[in-house]
Amino acid sequence: MDKMTPWLAEPARTIEILQKYDFHFQKKYGQNFLIDPHVLDRIISASGVSEDDTVLEIGPGIGTLTQYLAYAARRVYAVEIDRNLIPILTGDTLKDWDNVTVINGDIMDMDLPAFVREHNDGKPVRVVANLPYYITTPILMKILESGMPCLSITVMVQAEVADRMRAEPGSKDYGALSLAVRYYSVPEIGAQVPPNCFMPRPKVGSTVISLRVRRPEERVRTADETMLSRVIRASFAQRRKTLYNGLRNSEELQCPQELAAEAIREAGLPENVRGEELSLEDFARVADILYARQRV
Ligand code: SAM
Repeated sequence: MDKMTPWLAEPARTIEILQKYDFHFQKKYGQNFLIDPHVLDRIISASGVSEDDTVLEIGPGIGTLTQYLAYAARRVYAVEIDRNLIPILTGDTLKDWDNVTVINGDIMDMDLPAFVREHNDGKPVRVVANLPYYITTPILMKILESGMPCLSITVMVQAEVADRMRAEPGSKDYGALSLAVRYYSVPEIGAQVPPNCFMPRPKVGSTVISLRVRRPEERVRTADETMLSRVIRASFAQRRKTLYNGLRNSEELQCPQELAAEAIREAGLPENVRGEELSLEDFARVADILYARQRV
């Protein structure tokens, strides 16, 4: 079949579809649909999606970005939680695209590695999404930590979340999300996007950010990824607390106070150091010490 050209990304087309199906935006699902063709072009170029790629899209909405992805990629799987959108997608806006599969589901409930095994022979996919703002961080953490074979993650997020994703140690935005992004990927900013590019308009500015996912051998070395993420979570569970208190109080870690103090000392860190001062390499050293002790 000849390639279809995307036709939905105009305010008038979006309004036409919304009226035709008497669609009402659901705030609880973070529905802000894109209505600007230039922004859609920017997302596609930032994503690096080409004809060889299989794309996983989270939250297609009425299918605006999906049409662009279907044009650029080999295959697109689009997972949408709102079942009111499914007939619009499959019966109208995406019905002429034979390389798109729409799945009605919650991305948070999906087994992503199994999905990639089943639908792409275990070969890496690219993730592209205009993410729902109410659940951006949990979705990003899930994708990063899932172990799903993935080349890149290109997402529209609130500008403030993009700042957290790229934050450096010592800055107010630095936290568990910055460290996960840094461990699993190399982030690159694609574009700043003002509220008038969406319908309805969000209250804040947005940013397109693209993460090139690191291969396992490119990551900071650590004995056990689970231990590393537990130590990071523990240290940011209560902001402005010392790493020592974070480790000691973590239910996940069950770390006796002597061991917490010993791990910090052995990692060459001051005893009252705070999580926001530590680099990823510092966290990895502490995690490796705790992991080694746990195994004795
Ligand atoms: N991609 C469309 C666009 O750019 O116009 C819509 C983006 S809108 C910001 C987010 C979409 O994600 C909505 O369609 C919403 O219903 C969907 N969504 C929200 N939570 C979801 C979840 N947990 N799993 C899958 N889709 C979700």
